[in-house]
Amino acid sequence: MRKPITDLIHHPYSPPAHFAAPQPGVYKASTVFFADVAAMRARDWRTKVGYTYGLHGTPTTFTLEERLATLEGGAECLLVPSGLAAISLVSFALLKAGDEVLIPDNAYGPNKALANGELANFGISHRLYDAMNPADLAAKLSDRTKLVWVEAAGSVTMEFPDLPALVGACRERGVITALDNTWGAGLAFAPFDFNGTGQGVDISVHALTKYPSGGGDVLMGSVVTRDERLHRALKLTHMRMGFGIGVGDVETVLRSLPSLALRYQAHDRGARELARWLEGRVEIAQVLHPALEGSPGHAHWLRLCGASDLAAGLFSVVFDARYGTEQVDRFCDRLALFRLGYSWGGPISLVVPYDIGLMRDAAVARWPHKGTLVRFSIGLEDVDDLRADLEQALAAL
Ligand SMILES: *Cc1c(COP(=O)(O)O)cnc(C)c1O
Repeated sequence: MRKPITDLIHHPYSPPAHFAAPQPGVYKASTVFFADVAAMRARDWRTKVGYTYGLHGTPTTFTLEERLATLEGGAECLLVPSGLAAISLVSFALLKAGDEVLIPDNAYGPNKALANGELANFGISHRLYDAMNPADLAAKLSDRTKLVWVEAAGSVTMEFPDLPALVGACRERGVITALDNTWGAGLAFAPFDFNGTGQGVDISVHALTKYPSGGGDVLMGSVVTRDERLHRALKLTHMRMGFGIGVGDVETVLRSLPSLALRYQAHDRGARELARWLEGRVEIAQVLHPALEGSPGHAHWLRLCGASDLAAGLFSVVFDARYGTEQVDRFCDRLALFRLGYSWGGPISLVVPYDIGLMRDAAVARWPHKGTLVRFSIGLEDVDDLRADLEQALAAL
């Protein structure tokens, strides 16, 4: 007679084959069983035909990958442990010693830090370009350029570039483009098909940490492609680097995805209302929000996102130069509903003051403003309550 502990571990169980419910089942595994040695030897981890090992995918991770590829209009998707890991996967998969990567000066900061650190250590050089000047990018493309990053809108300063022009310059030279599509979330514009032209980027990375998770409680990233060969290259590196993700987190993102579009619209509506209100305040020199006239790149936003009329829940303000850093810090401290914290995409509104002078390379594009910059991420609170919070903190200035 076997002991109960053995029977407990070997308890008969087969997952229900036709269990229909709103949410897909959650399958957690490192080990995956094979019926026999022949099956073990025949199984190929590079495709989604079968399962070989938890690191290479489970029915649950494949489901999220397929849904994200659909969302962004791609064919294939890989999940990684964070948005930053999505950026590093692309760089490690496509670059080798002697290559050069071009990164916009207003890119998500850690992308530049990776280039300054590991990529430089591996003999891969990088150059920054002015995202608002496609001629600057075109002039910096060389035979060594193997990857160009694009981002819309730019990090913190929110400039909206002429994406079709940037991507077009790269395509002419046969250089692969990768978009950090966290802001657009696959909703504001189609990353692989700008305005129905069939033209777009080669790779779209997305910090699922933001809107797809929507809760401020999950870290995850995705890498979506249309090109099977590119996907194979990314999948090989993904496998060799051992990028695993917790299936519990995958379940959370799957649960949040159906409300993504509704939440995105609500974040957007609140952000635009507050951004327009702040434009009318004497304390504020400029509001940086791509959907607002007068914001850098507004015309480009209109051309690419006019059909969706979507612009996420993020914007920044430049305080009038008479307010110093200390006063602006105090303004942030006085906010009650807005919490101080990095990241965005969750239900709670966030605020971060930035010293933008330190974040931009003067040799590429000089930051034109004198005052201190503050970035807001608008959550899902009532907009009147958020406005009242901003008003009391401004009054205290
Ligand atoms: C947050 C963010 C990332 C990184 O995502 P993590 O999951 O925090 O690593 C990358 N790009 C952009 C534009 C982001 O906002």
